[in-house]
Amino acid sequence: MSALRTAQDVADGERSASEVVAESFRAIDQRDAEIHAFLTLQREQALGEAEALDVRITNGENVGPLAGVPIGIKDNMCQIGEVTSCASRILEGWRPPYDATVITKLKAAGAIAVGKTNMDEFAMGSSTENSAFGVTRNPHDPEKVPGGSSGGSAAAVAASMVPLSLGSDTGGSIRQPAALCGVVGVKPTYGLVSRYGLVAFASSLDQIGPFANNVEDAALLLEVIAGHDPKDSTSLNQPAPSLVAHLDHGVRGLRIGICSDLLQGASDDVATAVAQAAAVLQGAGAELSEISIPELGLGLSAYYLIAPAEASSNLARYDGVRYGLRVDGDDVTAMNTRSRTAGFGDEVKRRIMLGTYALSAGYYDAYYGQAQRARTLIIQAFAKAYGSVDLILGATTPTTAFGIGEKSGDPLAMYQSDICTIPTNLAGHPALSVPFGKGVDQMPIGVQLLGPTLSEQRLFQAARVIEQGAPA
Ligand code: GLN
Repeated sequence: MSALRTAQDVADGERSASEVVAESFRAIDQRDAEIHAFLTLQREQALGEAEALDVRITNGENVGPLAGVPIGIKDNMCQIGEVTSCASRILEGWRPPYDATVITKLKAAGAIAVGKTNMDEFAMGSSTENSAFGVTRNPHDPEKVPGGSSGGSAAAVAASMVPLSLGSDTGGSIRQPAALCGVVGVKPTYGLVSRYGLVAFASSLDQIGPFANNVEDAALLLEVIAGHDPKDSTSLNQPAPSLVAHLDHGVRGLRIGICSDLLQGASDDVATAVAQAAAVLQGAGAELSEISIPELGLGLSAYYLIAPAEASSNLARYDGVRYGLRVDGDDVTAMNTRSRTAGFGDEVKRRIMLGTYALSAGYYDAYYGQAQRARTLIIQAFAKAYGSVDLILGATTPTTAFGIGEKSGDPLAMYQSDICTIPTNLAGHPALSVPFGKGVDQMPIGVQLLGPTLSEQRLFQAARVIEQGAPA
């Protein structure tokens, strides 16, 4: 069901918001025992909001572009009074005293949050297996991972429990699960969507973005959540882009580069899907060319120094005093140590140790400093590429969804699943993943479109063309 249509029907009084929201909970009740996309549900709250919305509609009020549309919220976004755990024991049961800006905007647009979705602990991971509260399963095959870290949000949309959800993307955590679950996922330009109320992982990379079943719904949701926010000092000072109105403008004359470096390690079926998506764009009038940006190969190693370095600093606040879990000790240091030992999972501890090491005196320049220089090279290489192409096309992930347990014991193999998504985050650019057919295993494939800063309008136009030309 399209979110846009649902909102129009609700606003026109064709359907009630209460009915739409009740239907979403029925789907959740039917499927989520198996999938486990949600950590918590807000049944009473959501139905109450839907009823209130219905009253406002009856009174002739304008209720916003997402009237009555149920939405899943990744569990690292603060929602007043609702548990926001980041899938971590250390924040188990923590209820924020305020709403993230995205939540405020969703409420104003008439959307109804139905629950918080599962994720890798503190968004560190690519499979949602690092959740402290159990794995999420891929709706296309429950033995496979949904991707991560926003696996719950992707699975909830893929299993038709909600038409929309929000995720966060630091190194690929929206696009990678979108590809593995067969839905649309968008990582906006850094600063386009406010990070106020998003629990920080790596602040120079984190960005909130939409999941949807189709390009139009993703565009609509991004329009709602984007825009300047004085509460986030990195928020871009400019209005939300107009996306839905421009969706059907096509790609005629657009220069699109197929990037060989974003096909590295890709399986044959994924590489074929990218080639077919390129043919679809070409058929619609785009000028395709083959490009190479070898600097993108530096992305993975730069990211796994910069992101853990920032995380080690951001996660210092979980000390047993201010938030969540406290395990008592004889003195403050013992209490800090015990709380953090009990509260954080293995991957989070690994990142804190990596990051602390990379930032420590004597190693700072060789690791963190060097990673920042690599980041600059990537930014410069992208800038050069965008001198001759408007958009870049590549794979979102090297393969379709892998099995539950297949990579959880091998952190390096897990890190490799973000090889195609990480460079965009380092550059602060937007990118999105659009479903394009199935692999030999019948699992969904996603193709990725990348563009320069604030090229969202063009990205969505090209995504729409790919969507319309995708195999059924
Ligand atoms: N998988 C990557 C990581 O573990 C990206 C995570 C993300 O984008 N939040 O860091």
